[in-house]
Parts: sequence; C-alpha cells; structure tokens
Amino acid sequence: MSEKTDKAGGNGKLKIGMYWAASCGGCDISLLEIGPHILELIEVADVVLWPCAADFKYQDVVNYPDQFIDVCFFNGGVRNSEQEEIARLLRRKSKTLIAYGACATDGGIPALANTKTVEGIFAASYHDCPSLDNPAHVEPQPITQSEYGELEIPRFYPQVLRLSDVVEVDYQIPGCPPQAERVWEAILALVGGQLPARNSAVKVACFDKSVCDECPREKRKVKIKEFKRPHEAMAEAEWCLLEQGFICMGPATRSGCGALCVKANLPCRGCYGPSGEAQDQGAAMIGALGSILDASTEERAREMIDHIVDPVGTFYRFTMASSDLKGRR
Ligand code: SF4
Ligand code: SF4
Repeated sequence: MSEKTDKAGGNGKLKIGMYWAASCGGCDISLLEIGPHILELIEVADVVLWPCAADFKYQDVVNYPDQFIDVCFFNGGVRNSEQEEIARLLRRKSKTLIAYGACATDGGIPALANTKTVEGIFAASYHDCPSLDNPAHVEPQPITQSEYGELEIPRFYPQVLRLSDVVEVDYQIPGCPPQAERVWEAILALVGGQLPARNSAVKVACFDKSVCDECPREKRKVKIKEFKRPHEAMAEAEWCLLEQGFICMGPATRSGCGALCVKANLPCRGCYGPSGEAQDQGAAMIGALGSILDASTEERAREMIDHIVDPVGTFYRFTMASSDLKGRR
C-alpha cells in the first residue's frame, strides 16, 4: 500500500469518511473487516467522519470546506429527508463519493418496503404490531408543537431511494455487505489512480461475470422438477443448487464475493445485484428459470412457479429500487 498511497496522498494524509443512512450497520462493520490493512490505511488516511465509530457532529461536516473529504463511503439508501440532506452535503464536501453496499447502490432490503404504502408501513409499525402498546394511536409527525417550541424530525419518504437517485455518485461498491478483500483492492486501486473513469453507474470491487462463474458446483444439465426452500431439504454438496430445485440467484448476480453462500451450501440470495448487462436482476433470473424448468406445458410451468414463496422478496431482495418495478404496487 505504502508506495501507491504515498504517491496519491502527497504530503498530507487522505481524508476519508463513512456515513450510514437507511442501513443496518453491516456495511460499517464490513469496512473494519479489512483487518490488519486498517493499520496500513490509518498510516496514510485520517478519518474525518464516521458516526458509527467516532463522535463527529453534523456541524463539523458543515464547517469543512467544499471537497475537503477525499473519499466518502456512503452506505444505506435514502428513506427520509435527513438522509437526503446529508447525501447532498457529503456530495458537496467530497471529492469522491462512493455508494457503498447494496442499500446505497440498489435500495437493498429496506427497498422491499417500496411495494407498500406509507400508510401500510405506519399501520404495521405503530398500530398493528402485536408487541406494541399505543392506545392513543400516535404516529410520528414531521413537526410537533411542544412547550419547548417546535420540534422537527425527518420526513418519511414514500419510497426508499438509491444514493444515485439523489446525488451524482462517482463509484458503486455492491454487496450486502461488500466483501472486505474486494473493498481493500478497490481502495488500493483508488489511491493508485487505477479505477475506471468516474460514473454513477460504474461498479467496482466486483466483476462483470456472474456468481455461477465463480461457483465450484457441478452442473449436470438437468431441468428443475420442483422448487424447494433451504429448510425443506439438505442440499447435495457438490451439485448446482438450482438444478436441485433451490432458487439460487447465481445466474443473475454479479460476482465478486467468491460465491460465499453457495460454498456454505446455501443458495445465493443475489446481494451483489444484477450481473453483466442486466439492469433488472429479478427479470434476468425469471428469464434464466424459464429455460430450465422441467415443464412441457404452460400450465405445469405456472404450477411450479406458484410454489415459489414470496417471489418479489426472492427475485428483488436487494434491488427493488433499481428494478423496472421500482416498487409499483
Ligand atoms: S445456480 Fe447457484 S449453485 Fe448453481 S452454479 Fe450458479 S451459483 Fe452455483
Ligand atoms: S453468494 Fe450471493 S448472496 Fe451470498 S454473498 Fe455472494 S452475491 Fe451475496
């Protein structure tokens, strides 16, 4: 690292930031998974924002000059007005802004809620939840008058947006979460000036091929007779999971993770987003399935498809905000 970073960093250290919006925190942890490389990183870079790990205030960032942060990793989607405001602020303060992880690049799991209305989400969260005690049916309001004056909380948006829906991003790093080895390679490439030209759509720390291309399992070229869920049967260890009837998103998913899940005998869930040229991961997967179903009639194909539990959650688990559906109800 040192040769490359010395060159890129010049006399001063790089200033890096990590911010979390609508996310679970896993992306923040994944950055720490670069392990011993952390020591190399802090030799050449100062952290100037990382709410998950250090006590920086909003005002600190506001006071930074524009483009003060060399590289800012932004994880999580944009679910409310505060997250949008900070995305815009960080765009202004950062030379390079990277959408980090599935939620920032494609909406991630939070964007599955895009198939619901705000009223439906609030009903589930504040009224119908069995463990909730809310007899007055209170719901969060953006503005509340109180004896202390007007209180304001962020406005809840009707949909989860990707970071690139709100601001220009320079690169995207997919994955839920991104794999540490790939992230480290991307950091090296970034400081060494070896990343491709900036573009909102450029994905780094991954490959164009599919997870199937990285998968060591044998393809026996047999058609699927029925679909099974992972808890319903024990998968054969060396045979393609999809051919065994487990819905494995490998054919429609970008590689880069090293086929982690399939090597652990679990189907790929699709967290690296669409592979190759495909824009809509779910549609690509449905197309792939169409050619390997053991169904001689349309009726039989429909019967088999009807056995797929939660098709939207299965095919668009991480990419609803990027899909052609965009959460249409
Ligand atoms: S479908 Fe899944 S198990 Fe089969 S080759 Fe692709 S990644 Fe491997
Ligand atoms: S195998 Fe699929 S779900 Fe698992 S880490 Fe890789 S891309 Fe994500």
